Amino acid sequence: VNQLASLPSVDRLLKHDVLIELISVSGRDQVTDTIRERLSELRQQLSEGAINECPDDNQLAKEIAARVNGQNAASLKRVFNLTGTVIHTNLGRVSLPAAAIQAMNTAAAYPTNLEYDLASGKRGDRDTHIESLLAELTGAEAATVVNNNAAAVMLTLNSLAMGSEVPVSRGELVEIGGSFRIPDIMARSGCHLIEVGTTNRTHLKDFAGAINTNTALIMKVHTSNYEVQGFTKSVDEAELAVLAHEHHLPFVSDLGSGTLIDLTQFGLPHEPTAAETITAGADIVTFSGDKLMGGPQAGLIVGSRELVDRIKSNPMKRALRVDKITLAALYEVLRLYRDPSSLAQKLPGLHLLTRPLTDIQQIATQILPLFESTLGHRYNVSQQSCQSQIGSGSLPLDLLPSVAIAVTAKDGKDQTLVELAQNLRQLPIPVIGRITNGVMLMDLRCMEDISTFCNQLKSLISPQPQND
Ligand SMILES: *Cc1c(COP(=O)(O)O)cnc(C)c1O
Repeated sequence: VNQLASLPSVDRLLKHDVLIELISVSGRDQVTDTIRERLSELRQQLSEGAINECPDDNQLAKEIAARVNGQNAASLKRVFNLTGTVIHTNLGRVSLPAAAIQAMNTAAAYPTNLEYDLASGKRGDRDTHIESLLAELTGAEAATVVNNNAAAVMLTLNSLAMGSEVPVSRGELVEIGGSFRIPDIMARSGCHLIEVGTTNRTHLKDFAGAINTNTALIMKVHTSNYEVQGFTKSVDEAELAVLAHEHHLPFVSDLGSGTLIDLTQFGLPHEPTAAETITAGADIVTFSGDKLMGGPQAGLIVGSRELVDRIKSNPMKRALRVDKITLAALYEVLRLYRDPSSLAQKLPGLHLLTRPLTDIQQIATQILPLFESTLGHRYNVSQQSCQSQIGSGSLPLDLLPSVAIAVTAKDGKDQTLVELAQNLRQLPIPVIGRITNGVMLMDLRCMEDISTFCNQLKSLISPQPQND
């Protein structure tokens, strides 16, 4: 109990060099609060006899600094995505091109003409910054942008079909990861889903039979994350557009990922483009900015002037609109599509999707020895062929050949691998791989910045070998 008297005062600690330095970075209040918190813990532990003596001031100052720095560490961190899924929604989907990052910086740092028409000096419209470029790239008359494609679908349905019926094929009642389900979005958008056809087969006559005076539009949903195979039939865009127009109804297509150009020119599978869908007769097309398009999170709505104007005049547009930073990035990403020949170098998402296998192989050969020297005492490390996924519900069945570092535990215990995964996640830039069937795979398709990766790998906190 005498030891209680040896506890330093708050004032004494505040004068410690380490904490003076910390105050200059983090402010006096947080440091003072943390000192009080630590001293009160020590008082408790000493009086209960849990410890016998108080740490010295140097030790205490270090502990307090570590605690304050821990509290101030950002929760949103950069990570290495070695999961093998390129467009990984939980890891923030795609990185943006340099030009977009530059534009985001400028938009963040300075006032902008976001909604200000420089020619007339009057109020402007934020969509004007990207509308003509989107029109050029998709062949649509008009365009608007919202927070993400889920918002684009919701706003479109709410603007054009509230209180009315929307027929959709039973084969297209998609659930995207998380909680985006077409039937739920329809309900929340205030329209009545009319299911037509069956899970595997839907015919034009099913749609025709569903149309009545309460029908607001016909909708097609891209089956992004699954494929119905075998005895199947769906109705294509062109046929649905003709049917809709015969009944003076709009035809709306949710492309999900969608793209702006034909990806087969990069050796990737074909994904419907917004332009193809407009050409097929769609009156409104919605798609994501941050799936295959490779831009910032956004939902793009393109189509006829009249319908886009109706969508834009919905009061909910205000609640779903994008900010100046997104618009700045989106413009730069869209601009890159004017020159498809340089797209695979300039757009990080496409760059990773089209990375030659030999490049990935070379990275594996380069970093394997480091993995061996860091982990070799406890783990078997090797190179292994693997397959990357495109991800985010884009082209679900198309896999890309890749190379992984494969790690197994020498003791064969799952727990030993789980520990490694944990340690990798605790690195300054956490490394995220995947464990399947007792093997930890780190797919190197998305490995960039190899020197940073290698430098931090050396500090991997890995239990030392048993003495034997
Ligand atoms: C991904 C997807 C959405 C949602 O898009 P977000 O950009 O994630 O909001 C909607 N519809 C389909 C068909 C999708 O694939």
